[in-house]
Amino acid sequence: MEQKKKVCLDAGHSASNKVNKSPDGTYFEHEFALDMAKRIKAHLERHGVEVVETRPDGRDVSLGERCRISNTAKPDLFVSLHSNATGTLATGADGWGNARGWECYVYGLSGARYKAAKAILNQVECVAPAIRSTPILAKPGLYVLAHTNAPAVLIEHGFHTSKRDVAYLKDRAYREKLAKAEARGILNYLGIAWVEDSELDAAVDKLAAAGIIDSPKRWKKLDFTDDSVRTLIIKMAAALK
Ligand SMILES: [Zn+2]
Repeated sequence: MEQKKKVCLDAGHSASNKVNKSPDGTYFEHEFALDMAKRIKAHLERHGVEVVETRPDGRDVSLGERCRISNTAKPDLFVSLHSNATGTLATGADGWGNARGWECYVYGLSGARYKAAKAILNQVECVAPAIRSTPILAKPGLYVLAHTNAPAVLIEHGFHTSKRDVAYLKDRAYREKLAKAEARGILNYLGIAWVEDSELDAAVDKLAAAGIIDSPKRWKKLDFTDDSVRTLIIKMAAALK
């Protein structure tokens, strides 16, 4: 059997970070990053991908530790999740600025990392209200991009110093749409076909109606590990008579 694909999700910053926020204080980057990590994780796990989190909760995790976690886990891809800000000098007196849009940073514009960034961008283009004019940039100076062994991308999901962007970044429905798009891009990069939630739900309902499986609600929530797939195959075979 092919080895399970693995992705390391790196939720930027920590709950002690009170600096990276919208100028009106209604949005904190650490909260957004962690929420996005959980949302992307759910979609990846639903497709059988193993997810390693560098920061699973509000705790402080140093950049060095984040890289160590990834380098120990040896994932197929490292994805760091952030939102952007314009420099304080470039913004107006109230802290708001005009710069907006999604962008993705990589160590260099080549190889697997660039392929992954493009696969994610391809999906995000369909849902993001704004994309930077040069959406994939080389940033070799960024610590997590320079010190992770796996192909690595760092996503800036828009500017929390933009009134227009932050309205989206705070919106739960938009977060889910974006997380789904990014998960889909990651899966494309890993060579795993996307399965719609609704497609799975309909299939589970059909099997339950035919009496092949029971407790459809439980099946819809499963992450389809090897054991649950094994159980399902046995149930399907038994139904064939
Ligand atoms: Zn950040």
